[in-house]
Amino acid sequence: MPAHVWDKIKDHPCYSEEAHHYFARMHVAVAPACNIQCNYCNRKYDCSNESRPGVTSERMTPEQAALKVVAVANKVPQLSVLGIAGPGDSMFDWRKTFETFRQVEKRLPDLKFCVSTNGLALPDHIDALADHNIDHVTVTINMVDPEIGTLIYPWIYHNGKRYTGLDASKILHERQMESLEALASKNILVKVNSVMIPGINDQHLMDVNAAIKARGAFLHNVMPLISDPAHGTHFGLTGQRGPNPAELKDLQDKLAGGANLMRHCRQCRADAVGMLGEDLSQDFTMDKIDAEV
Ligand code: SF4
Ligand code: SF4
Repeated sequence: MPAHVWDKIKDHPCYSEEAHHYFARMHVAVAPACNIQCNYCNRKYDCSNESRPGVTSERMTPEQAALKVVAVANKVPQLSVLGIAGPGDSMFDWRKTFETFRQVEKRLPDLKFCVSTNGLALPDHIDALADHNIDHVTVTINMVDPEIGTLIYPWIYHNGKRYTGLDASKILHERQMESLEALASKNILVKVNSVMIPGINDQHLMDVNAAIKARGAFLHNVMPLISDPAHGTHFGLTGQRGPNPAELKDLQDKLAGGANLMRHCRQCRADAVGMLGEDLSQDFTMDKIDAEV
């Protein structure tokens, strides 16, 4: 891995085998609104850009989020990264995302930030991201062929207008590619998440891998669609299935050699707290934090 990449991820528990044992991360669920509809999303739950869908995280204001981050940092000194991963889209709900960063960096100036997003609104916020302590951004990209996009995204909301069908997927695709190039130009690392949807984009993720590698993404995280009855009335079918472990591994093996693959993402909740593999989110709910303040 190039030195400039390693330097940025060495303290991030998700990326470094070493850091995984010594550093903790947390997510705060401050961004409930979203500007696209993914066929696999149920808005009652967390965004699956980064989080395990089917989980409802505790939603909070930027002020509450800052109190919570300080409370966690006081009790979990290994805390090194704060991520905003929903429950909607961090860059569509950018006011709340950036206000959270402002509130937190006043109190904890050394903490690193990361965001995850579908990428549609991202090109408008690259400079603002670069102004904060951001080392990397996660963009969820499920297709580079808008025809396939029509099977995944029924609509998007962009510049005050709602688009459907091929128009929607073309705009989303162009904005996602523009995001990758703009982030690379600012030296902000990009990880790409893709949700593997059997029969829809599973074979196509090879093309996605090549396209994101060409635009400088340092890591590709292929996540299985988590099929849940609450999510299963989409795709014009009831019960779109997720891939089985053998199918996921087969795809990951085929992708080895392209953009670096991440195989150990835990699809943490949008309010996850602690070392990777540990979930302290219930120890830091707002009622407990309010009682302490
Ligand atoms: Fe749902 Fe996330 Fe897709 Fe928005 S980007 S529709 S919150 S899965
Ligand atoms: Fe790390 Fe994946 Fe969890 Fe994000 S969702 S904190 S990348 S393991």
